Amino acid sequence: MTISQLSRKNIQALTPYQSARRLGGSGDVWLNANEYPTSPNFDLTDHTFNRYPEAQPEAVVNSYAAYAGVQPENVIVTRGGDESIELIIRAFCEADDAVLYCPPTYGMYAVSAETCGVALKTVPLTADFQLNLPEIEKNLDGVKVVFVCSPNNPTGGLVKRSDLLKLLQMTAGRAIVVVDEAYIEFCPTATMATELANFPHLAIIRTLSKAFGLAGLRCGFTLANAELINVLQKVIAPYPIPVPVSDIAAQALSEQGLAQMRSQTATVLANRAELQKNLEKLPLVEQVFESEANYLLVKFKDGQKVFKALWEQGIVLRDQHKALGLANCVRITVGTEVENKKVVESLGRVVLG
Ligand SMILES: *Cc1c(COP(=O)(O)O)cnc(C)c1O
Repeated sequence: MTISQLSRKNIQALTPYQSARRLGGSGDVWLNANEYPTSPNFDLTDHTFNRYPEAQPEAVVNSYAAYAGVQPENVIVTRGGDESIELIIRAFCEADDAVLYCPPTYGMYAVSAETCGVALKTVPLTADFQLNLPEIEKNLDGVKVVFVCSPNNPTGGLVKRSDLLKLLQMTAGRAIVVVDEAYIEFCPTATMATELANFPHLAIIRTLSKAFGLAGLRCGFTLANAELINVLQKVIAPYPIPVPVSDIAAQALSEQGLAQMRSQTATVLANRAELQKNLEKLPLVEQVFESEANYLLVKFKDGQKVFKALWEQGIVLRDQHKALGLANCVRITVGTEVENKKVVESLGRVVLG
């Protein structure tokens, strides 16, 4: 047998997550991964590289808890939000359990479930990108984890709070509801963290990769009640957070770091409004969907052609034509003012045949 044939059958069949980096591209305008367009500047202050790090860096846990308005017992630090997704599936799903999610949405729920050998159930979002609660209820048999992304990637809008509350009621005692709040800093009042006291089966995923501008750091969080956090503590690696990561994360979560994040967020929101206005003027744009995050989903007359034309000009966007119901759609991360201007100018030069 070849090495590939020796690997688990679900791994042999697995298509790895098509991350923005894996998809490649070349140029100087990278608006395909919802990153903050410039890097915040931090220096390492802790040089104890000879020692294993704290299993859960106390300074980071405490400052994130304070920032999120929860207690330290409600927080676990992970290697990016992506590790939170995988930990929850690994900790809660038996081989014959299923994970439910609502496309079009973030691709890692499916990839992590497949990696763990867990079945997938999908209940598409409605035409206005909201939860189809009756269909979800009909499909809950065997489901241990439900993933909902709000603001949703790639569509940009929020899932209605009243629907999230109904979902939490219908799943109580049966399944974990994960609300992925990777983009919550762009619409902070929408957080479900205020509901943790009411729902022991609610888990909220957070990250420093988006509004904090620290995608390269690989630092994320799960917020939940202590019992759920303790389950995740059992399955996480013994030393998941490297010393340099917790050092910089603690600085990013200091008063000064939070002020910087809030100013970055305000800049993104102002630039998003300007970009949206300018996109809506272009004849080849059919629709710019309302966004609460740092990206815009745009429907074009010929999305794939637009994506390719900009790709060839060194402007890398995220093609969404394969996502459920998103034919001709392209996701554009809000960049710097200069980058956004380049996007609009390049789009103005695209000629549709
Ligand atoms: C970016 C993102 C994450 C997590 O990213 P990390 O870099 O692993 O923290 C999680 N969910 C969604 C929807 C995202 O867009």
